[in-house]
Amino acid sequence: MSLSSINIQEKMNNHRLSAFLTAQERPVIEIERPSTKVSDFFGANVFNVQTMQRYLSEEAFESVMQSMKEGKKIDMEMADQVAAGMKSWAIDRGCTHHTHWFQPLTGLTAEKHDSFFAPIDASKGLEKFNGKQLVQGEPDGSSFPSGGMRSTHEARGYTAWDPSSPAFIMEVGTVGKTLCIPTIFISYSGGSMGYKAPLLKSQHAINEAAVKVCQFFDRNVTRVVPNLGWEQEFFLVDAALYNARPDLIATGRAILGRPPARGQQLSDHYFGSIPERVQTYMLDLETEAWKLGIPISTRHNEVAPGQYEFAPIFDEVNRAVDQNSLLMDLMDRVARRHDLRVLMHEKPFAGLNGSGKHNNWSLGTDTGVNLLSPGKTPRKSLRFLSFFVNTIRAISTYSDLLRASIASAANDHRLGGHEAPPAIFSVFIGSTLTSVLDEIEKKVKKGKMPEGKQDDLKLDIHNMIPDVLLDNTDRNRTSPFAFTGNKFEMRAVGSSANCAFPMTVLNTIVAHQLNFFHVEVQGLIKKGEKRDAAILRVLRRYVTESRSILFEGDNYSEAWKKEAKKRGLNNVTATSDALDFFIDPKSIALFTEYGIFDEEELTARYDVMQDNYKMKVQIEAEIMDEIINNQIIPACITYGSELTSQLVQMKELGIPTKSTKQFSVLTGINKKLNLISKSLEVMNAEMEKAEKKDSAKASKHYSSKVKPQMHNLRTMVDELELVVSDQHWPLPKYRELLFIK
Ligand code: ADP
Ligand code: MG
Repeated sequence: MSLSSINIQEKMNNHRLSAFLTAQERPVIEIERPSTKVSDFFGANVFNVQTMQRYLSEEAFESVMQSMKEGKKIDMEMADQVAAGMKSWAIDRGCTHHTHWFQPLTGLTAEKHDSFFAPIDASKGLEKFNGKQLVQGEPDGSSFPSGGMRSTHEARGYTAWDPSSPAFIMEVGTVGKTLCIPTIFISYSGGSMGYKAPLLKSQHAINEAAVKVCQFFDRNVTRVVPNLGWEQEFFLVDAALYNARPDLIATGRAILGRPPARGQQLSDHYFGSIPERVQTYMLDLETEAWKLGIPISTRHNEVAPGQYEFAPIFDEVNRAVDQNSLLMDLMDRVARRHDLRVLMHEKPFAGLNGSGKHNNWSLGTDTGVNLLSPGKTPRKSLRFLSFFVNTIRAISTYSDLLRASIASAANDHRLGGHEAPPAIFSVFIGSTLTSVLDEIEKKVKKGKMPEGKQDDLKLDIHNMIPDVLLDNTDRNRTSPFAFTGNKFEMRAVGSSANCAFPMTVLNTIVAHQLNFFHVEVQGLIKKGEKRDAAILRVLRRYVTESRSILFEGDNYSEAWKKEAKKRGLNNVTATSDALDFFIDPKSIALFTEYGIFDEEELTARYDVMQDNYKMKVQIEAEIMDEIINNQIIPACITYGSELTSQLVQMKELGIPTKSTKQFSVLTGINKKLNLISKSLEVMNAEMEKAEKKDSAKASKHYSSKVKPQMHNLRTMVDELELVVSDQHWPLPKYRELLFIK
């Protein structure tokens, strides 16, 4: 049967059938690339160092470079010059508009375009763009979540240029080109309303703290930046099948649906060959990403059918976050050209692996050293151990905050699923480093160390460390936070998340810990202890104090849940509860001390996140209600009436009906429909109750009362999917969504 042989009426009657046939007949489209050599066009759409050198005066160029490196303010006169250079470049490249590009708390990126063209009178005008337009913008703040930080009489929000992330040109189709200027988003009173300002502040905090600690080892270090390399997982689904699923359109997740007979159990998808249509999409996307200077370097199939991953070469965290946000936007735009849809939801298909965004994090100095890279000399080993142990202790002290930083309605479905780390935070370091820490604990004295002994110990430890880099097989894929040779990999981050938030928390807690370490070591030195001995002695205590966060075993196992409980580690599975960690006194003290958030910003953000959670579950529940009422129940009734007429005919012919398959199927369906209808009533009543509560209480009510009903309903509907004839089932099934490419 082909698509054209089915009449319109038939297609209208069955969205699923028509979507299925459309998806099956998709051609692979031709794509355009500027050149087959990536180096010919890499970064062509970025106002990068080379381009700036060409378009800016020496003075303006220096001023931007200093601002990028040292965070120095750019004065208005210079900003005018930079704006003029940017304008010339953008217009040379065919741009008609410019926009401040920012990351509000919606989790998406936002832009408001203004034309370069400004009329002078009715007959003429010119292209204008000045320093003021570059430095500050004023989108209507009232349309973005602020958590009440913006009082009603002052609806304004401001965007302010972030010179540390380069401007770029976004191309849409062949005609629309817009100059995008990365900015932070703040309220009238200066409170942060986006992701970027706190991230930049956390970068500043960790720079200051890490430089101080570096000074113990190398006086030449003047700057330390956190680096981030993200790995982005996602699913691809054909657009027609996607459009036939109201739940995918509204929530990005299949709220109903039975896992297919053949899912991922054969493990034949992981690293398998990429289907041609998908590969064409990826190349098209990579081309767009490369033009924007996003250094995508790997792509491969992931574990679940229809699941893939992209990873770039790492960069300084602020730029890496922007690149990730930009890529997520591009992924969606480019997919539409190929009649594909990207699902970035953390768990679009229950029963199959979900998608994460592994955040690889390390610290780099302006002298070119990765502080988490084990060194080749005893001194370098001690430096490595200092940063390594301090990071572990930071996680140990603030694991709950880190858990909260990755909390979202969607990630709740993934954490603790069989492929994803549980909601318990622990750190995996591998057997070699475990024995190094054991050694430190065993050999370093609690009291002042005897002269001469310290050097022996340093050598001892040093001799064990070089193995770490070779120890690549020693990997634990189940850990939420794993050391992988020269970086930590935070795996619990969700695929749709803005990495800025978990990175802000990680930078801040490590900054705090490093400051603490610096003070303690200085204290011992003042009391007369030698520097290296002092460092080792403080590290020794940290190792002992952080033991409970270290876990080498299987994080998926039930045994770990029990063990973690004994160790006093929290296992908070619901976002609405995890978010509470943000506003406990310990977190407030931390964030305010470093100026990352003040108390008002923190509670505002808490409210936004609780509201966001509530709305996400609410939309899911509503769409579930709608699909069940409008599609599932009618399909069951139609199929049921066919069975009924057959049973009536049998009866007329005198054939006994009670013991027939038709009879048991029909009664089974009817029973289930009654239960479903009751459960829908309960769910709606609980939603009404929730709506009467304020934000955090409402979100907790959704979590504890509405979600269980949804779970219940799904189980029943998925059982019906197995019983109702395939012909009548209205929703594209998993096997169609996942295997047609
Ligand atoms: P995996 O085996 O986990 O897939 P990869 O070698 O593919 O690991 O690297 C994953 C990511 O880690 C990449 O984005 C890479 O750029 C990044 N990465 C590598 N080294 C560092 C580092 N020192 N700091 C931060 N990220 C890094
Ligand atoms: Mg990885």
